[in-house]
Amino acid sequence: MKTAKFGGSSLCDGKSFEQVLSIIKSDESIRIVVPSAPGKRHANDTKVTDLLIAFYEGEDVFSEIKSRFDSIISSLKLNLDLSAEYSEIEKRKTEGTTLDYIASRGEYLNGLIAAKALGWKFINPSDVIKFDDTNKLLYKETLQLINEAYNNEPCVIPGFFGANQKGEVVTFSRGGSDITGSLCAAAMKADIYENWTDVSGFFMADPRIVPYAMNIDEVSYKELRELSYMGAGVLHEESIFPVRKMEIPVHIKNTNAPKDKGTLIMPFSKMAPHSRPITGVAGKKGFAVITIEKARMNNEVGFARKVLSVLEGYGISIEHMPTGIDTLSIVVSEELISNKVNDILGSLQDISAADSIDVSHNMALIATVGHGMVKHAGSAAKIFAALSGNNINIRMIDQGSSELNIIVGVEESDYENAVRSIYNAFAI
Ligand code: ASP
Repeated sequence: MKTAKFGGSSLCDGKSFEQVLSIIKSDESIRIVVPSAPGKRHANDTKVTDLLIAFYEGEDVFSEIKSRFDSIISSLKLNLDLSAEYSEIEKRKTEGTTLDYIASRGEYLNGLIAAKALGWKFINPSDVIKFDDTNKLLYKETLQLINEAYNNEPCVIPGFFGANQKGEVVTFSRGGSDITGSLCAAAMKADIYENWTDVSGFFMADPRIVPYAMNIDEVSYKELRELSYMGAGVLHEESIFPVRKMEIPVHIKNTNAPKDKGTLIMPFSKMAPHSRPITGVAGKKGFAVITIEKARMNNEVGFARKVLSVLEGYGISIEHMPTGIDTLSIVVSEELISNKVNDILGSLQDISAADSIDVSHNMALIATVGHGMVKHAGSAAKIFAALSGNNINIRMIDQGSSELNIIVGVEESDYENAVRSIYNAFAI
């Protein structure tokens, strides 16, 4: 039994909708379908959710929105008239509704179309996905309500939103239909959560940097967390939690190439043994490293705590904190410190009486991730050799305590070259 979520690019027009319908019809084990709003039909197109946001902000785009849905309906030759729904949305807009309500209508209308095309029950997420008054998801109640509404009958539940205790629509953050899908999979205790998109799963490295990067067949929840944190997108970060808790595998599939293997995300304990030590390489630009040096720092009880309390005071979360005997480095997002660097350095100097404090800007972090590294001696050596062989200076090294990742910091200008070098060292 499966929950299948279809992304916006897979439901962007009549033709892609048809592909999705044939995927659903060819697999009886798909029991809950979670659609997104229609996405981009080509590179310069606008997603319906963005059109809805523009509409909320006062732009004259509602007829464009209506025509996106009407053209899908006519291309699928459905006997469905959404004019009453359109009037309701316009009426609410005039009366002054919320952004969440307007933004959620893309999924809502696409869900009505999908339910009609399949002849399946339509479940309004406002009735089953519940938030408290601070917009925090009520997890247990939601699972129970989905399960009761589903009641073992195939159904369509639009993605991206639910409602609070007052019945007002609340959306997840952007890309949040993945979360709805995950909640549905957990509620129905699915064997698999299929997440259909427009790529055949995850690549071992960003294909814009390494065009020949191979697909990842299998990745553990933990590895994925590391890789997506460092920028390997495809799935909404928060969507893993409900399925991970119940050990339900997530299968990323491509609607344009349904026969491709895709990527299977599952608990490490259920994965086939890996032949390659690494699963993937991912990274991000935009970091700064603050390095504090002080003789005999290692003997000073509470030194790190004092330093961290300064950053906490400025509301700055830290990314990494590699330490040496007399040095302590803190990696932070450049954006978070940009307009207060001097104040922060001053406060750090006051509290630590350090011998020196330096900041390096324009750093990129690259994580090499894989459970396999524990068993393979020399993974770190291979990374360092690959980088030095390509004349890339390593500015920082940090190995996660689980031996799941090795993180290196390099100059932003070396970033792409560094990712390629590490990929080539392991994958070829
Ligand atoms: N349509 C929403 C967005 O564009 C949610 C989603 O597609 O998952 O962010």
